[in-house]
Parts: sequence; structure tokens; C-alpha cells
Amino acid sequence: MTTERAEPILYLVIPCYNEEEVLPETTKRLTEKLHAMIRAGEIHRESRILYVDDGSRDRTWALISEYSAAIPYVDGVKLAHNRGHQNALLAGLMTAMPLCDCAISMDADLQDDTDAVDRFVEKYKEGCDVVYGVRNKRDKDTVFKRTTAEGYYKLLRLLGVDIVFNHADYRLMSRRALEGLSEYREVNLFLRGIVPLIGFKSDYVYYDRGERFAGASKYPLKKMIALALDGITSFSVKPLRLISNLGILISVLSIFGLLYALISHLLGLTVAGWTAIVASIWLLGGLQMLCLGVVGTYIGKIYSEVKQRPRYLVETHLKPANIRKSEIQEKT
Ligand code: UDP
Ligand code: MG
Repeated sequence: MTTERAEPILYLVIPCYNEEEVLPETTKRLTEKLHAMIRAGEIHRESRILYVDDGSRDRTWALISEYSAAIPYVDGVKLAHNRGHQNALLAGLMTAMPLCDCAISMDADLQDDTDAVDRFVEKYKEGCDVVYGVRNKRDKDTVFKRTTAEGYYKLLRLLGVDIVFNHADYRLMSRRALEGLSEYREVNLFLRGIVPLIGFKSDYVYYDRGERFAGASKYPLKKMIALALDGITSFSVKPLRLISNLGILISVLSIFGLLYALISHLLGLTVAGWTAIVASIWLLGGLQMLCLGVVGTYIGKIYSEVKQRPRYLVETHLKPANIRKSEIQEKT
């Protein structure tokens, strides 16, 4: 075991979008948590909370700067624009990568139980490079959210996407897992789909997810659906294969239809059948539209991938200077 595994520099990476209501409490709780862990010798004293301001329009950045100035444990990164949760998270993880031994990503609203942090770090010390936070049960969710979420995970599995059931973005990654992540250059980000592809030794930590203690969700249904679709279309080409299969099936069926029409014609029964014709026109039209839509989605993705636009731009990083102070001190 390396010394770094014994007392790692831990970064808590927290994307924030208009989170002025939760930040005071979150900062208080997380600072206490880090402080306690440092005192207990579980983590290195250079461990930090790294807030990523995802282009907030409220006082989020002002608060982060204020806390960063007052509290040595708090660091902040401001993105130049609102890029969404997944990109903000990536920005934070990539900023933390050269500074930390391991990083845990979590939401600003502390819905993810912070007591699990100790267990994450324990698993890291046992040699895991990725530790997934998995929700125990979903009894606090609405029936709608629960059934759609669980159905979605099952659908992803069915489509061949390697995904951890009931795991969102509460996870620990070691520095080398983060370096692995940095090699994935896709623009349509769905981190929980990418991380299992990186490999390395991994394990699970089970936790209860509470309710947001202040403010409203920054994930409206529209964003949720967009993320869900990204999860499917970024990791599986099965929908494309499904279309081909559907096309084959319909072609076979239409041969039978044709035979039926020919026989009817030969028997002189052609007057009836208007309904069948109209119905098939609608059916085929509909199917074609659906298939075009799916193909279009993939073309859209190719379009955004080939442009290779940056996924985020860092405007300010408050404490870049503390780059592995211990290492620098050791060398000098
Ligand atoms: N978030 C972000 N950018 C966005 C939307 C959300 O950085 O465009 C952050 C948000 O501040 C929070 C996390 O993503 O820390 C999860 O959002 P939220 O708690 O609102 O989602 P929910 O828990 O309701 O799914
Ligand atoms: Mg939340």
C-alpha cells in the first residue's frame, strides 16, 4: 500500500447551479466532515471541498469566493457559462485530478448521505479505484420517479449499457481513474455510463438518499429526459439495429399482405380493402418517421462530436496555487 492510499488528499467535487440557498449549510456540514476526517488521520490535511459554479445567476459565486477566502478547506472554480450538471462535474473532476489522490462527486443539496464519505475512503484504502454510491431504497421518491427511474435502468441494461443499478453521480474516483476519464473526449456526457468502461478495481457503498433541504431541484423533467436519452444514444447502437430488424419484419409481413391482395384480386374481391390500404399507409408512414427520428438522433450526435468543441471553459480557479504543496515541500 502506498502512503497516499493511507492518508489520501481527498477532493469533494460539487457542481452548483443557483444554489445560494443551500451553500451555507452545505459548507458548514462538509467543512465539519473534512475537519473531523483530517483530525482522525483518515485523510490528508490538504483535502478540499471544490465547488464548481456552473454559470449561476444568483449569489452562488459570491458565496463560494467568500467561503474560499475564509475557510482554508474551500476551493472554487467558476465556469464561463451554464454547461449543465454533467459538464460541470467533469470540469470539477478534471480540476481536482492533478491536486488530489481521490475525488468524490456529490450534489450541492447534500441529498446524498455525507456519512458515506468515510466508507468511500475506506474502500479506496483497500485498493479500489472507483467506488459507486448506490441508493438503498427509493421510498422518498414519488411513485412516478421511482418507476421511471428503475424502468430506465432496466432498459439501459437491456440495450447492453453497462450501468450500476440505482447509482447516480455520487462516487469516488482515484487519480488514475480520473486520468482514465480524461481520455474520454465525448461531448454528449453521461458519466455514469463512461465510468464503468474505465475499469479498475471497483466496489459499492450503499446509502440512503434524503430530500433536498433547501431550494428547488435544478433538474426539471426536460433536463432529466435529455440526460436519459443521452444515456441510451451515447452508449448503445441497438436502437439502430432494432430499426433494421423492424424493417425486415415489416417487409416479410408485407409480402404476405401482397399475396393476400393478389389472391383477392384474382378472386374478384377487390372492392373492399380501402381500410387496409389507408391503414397501411399510415402505419408505414409512422414507422418511417420514427426510424428517421432515431437515425437523425445519431447523426445529430456525430455532428456535435466531430466539432470537438470544448466541453467547458474555466473562468476562474480560486486556489490553483496549492498544487500538491506537500510534494513541492518534499522536493525542495
Ligand atoms: N446542477 C448544475 N448545473 C445545472 C443543473 C444542476 O451544476 O445546470 C447541479 C445542482 O446545483 C446540484 C446537482 O447538479 O448540485 C444536482 O441537481 P439537483 O439537486 O437540482 O437535481 P435532483 O437531485 O433534483 O435530481
Ligand atoms: Mg438534488
